Amino acid sequence: MKANCWMGKKDVRIQDVPDPQILNARDVIVKITSTAICGSDLHLYNGFVPTMEKGDILGHEFMGEVVEKGEDVKNLEIGDRVVVPFPISCGSCFSCQRGLFSLCENSNPNAWMAEKMWGHSPAGIFGYSHLTGGFAGGQAEYARVPFADFGPIKVPEGLRDEQVLFLSDIFPTGYMGAEMCNIQPGDTIAVWGCGPVGQFAMKSAFLLGAERVIGIDRFPERLKMAREKVGAETINYEEVSPLDFLHETTGGRGPDACIDAVGMESHTPGAVYAYDRIKQSVMAESDRPIALREAIMACRNGGTVSVIGVYGGFIDKFPFGSVMNRSLTIRTGQCHVQRYTRPLLERIQKGEIDPGFVITHTMALDDAPYGYEIFNNKQDDCIKVVLKPHLSPSSRLLH
Ligand SMILES: [Zn+2]
Ligand SMILES: [Zn+2]
Repeated sequence: MKANCWMGKKDVRIQDVPDPQILNARDVIVKITSTAICGSDLHLYNGFVPTMEKGDILGHEFMGEVVEKGEDVKNLEIGDRVVVPFPISCGSCFSCQRGLFSLCENSNPNAWMAEKMWGHSPAGIFGYSHLTGGFAGGQAEYARVPFADFGPIKVPEGLRDEQVLFLSDIFPTGYMGAEMCNIQPGDTIAVWGCGPVGQFAMKSAFLLGAERVIGIDRFPERLKMAREKVGAETINYEEVSPLDFLHETTGGRGPDACIDAVGMESHTPGAVYAYDRIKQSVMAESDRPIALREAIMACRNGGTVSVIGVYGGFIDKFPFGSVMNRSLTIRTGQCHVQRYTRPLLERIQKGEIDPGFVITHTMALDDAPYGYEIFNNKQDDCIKVVLKPHLSPSSRLLH
């Protein structure tokens, strides 16, 4: 089959690779109809995540049709359309019993690597380095899905791929980011990063009852999407200081909660950026936490800082004094996707949200290297790329 493979920093290529096989009685093989490139794939693309190996198949946001199944998979039939959550979860271990699905204790065969780096291991993740299991990802024609009797969600008839694909990651991730803010009526929520996850965090903040939602970014097309599709206020941080703006428009108190939907490759004008960029480039600091620092400083006393942007290792100049002295709560985690798939599918069915609004580009799997390039460089107003692995070349859409 064809698959999009990581070949090195800023180098992904479509390669011919062996078809996936059923290895376990709880596996299914999915023929992938839609898959997406995620902002966190860019951390792999840009070489910030260790333990990637040449030839690794990328992609953790995918859906498709069940074409083969192991004998213990009783809840799915051949031909079912399914969306696959990005964390691989057994459904019955200590963590899964507590709904902490991205911390499944049974799905990371390379737990020892993660234990060395983080103390304990999280769950395995599709297409996301050997630290999280080295599983082949979904930017391919087919994928093997372990624990398929637990994680994947059957798509009801009448829903298009574009409406449900993001249940695999970014919609639940954004939703969890907002849910961790414990939003009360009248609350003001500020969101750093108006990429796809930030858009879903803002939209979810409204769904959960926020009165004001403020999106912070520097790309005009993302800020426009936040205003027009989500109804958020926006700040371009290259023009206006978020700290000043948030201070002034909340009576000097600050937002009730701040969401970091940026993560380890954040950017800011001025000297702090250069400081972090240099430290990161010489590996003296693995992550650049500029958005996180700002979210902490902006948040009102006693408020919540919710972190859904991805971090890999260590950060520098972390304002913990501000957290401690001002009674801030920090909540974070890789999304426990399986907790949210059903309730969020219901919201989609009720028409409360059509997650397809974030898609700016749809292309054939063969064009994945181009998709990574324009997404990484924010060219052509690219916000979210969907790849179609089974498009015939003659019917290729590129919009
Ligand atoms: Zn993702
Ligand atoms: Zn588990």
